[in-house]
Amino acid sequence: MASIFSRIVAGEIPSYKVAEDDRHYAFLDINPVAEGHVLVIPKREVDYIFDLTDDEYAALQVFAKHVAEALRQAIPCRKVGMAVLGLEVPHAHIHLIPMQSEGDMDFRRDKLTLSPERMAEIAQSIASKFRKTPLQ
Ligand code: AMP
Repeated sequence: MASIFSRIVAGEIPSYKVAEDDRHYAFLDINPVAEGHVLVIPKREVDYIFDLTDDEYAALQVFAKHVAEALRQAIPCRKVGMAVLGLEVPHAHIHLIPMQSEGDMDFRRDKLTLSPERMAEIAQSIASKFRKTPLQ
């Protein structure tokens, strides 16, 4: 059975999309630890990120970098933090989190509850800044 993230890519489950190319998809985490918490995934379903091929892994990281650049422009923050857990959803993904402090990377903290309108607004704001080619 397809993972929940594959079903998101297929459009079977809704998501707050922020970026996409032929091999990758980025969308808001539904239980964010901070405003603008994004998940970046390869469209090919692989559970463990280090089981991606070298080429797939490198391409995913470069795509995540471009998403992080858009994220930093859309959400004021000190830096964008990156984390890989993968204990809940068996489809490789990178968490990108706009950080004001170290605590923003604490996944044990209570998650934020944002309205659908606010989630859509954040996603649209990040999407509007996204460029596939690196910013100079
Ligand atoms: P982990 O696998 O431990 O990295 O955690 C999976 C992450 O996916 C969690 O932060 C969840 O909030 C998030 N998540 C699970 N289902 C969805 C969904 N349908 N849309 C967006 N994010 C999700």
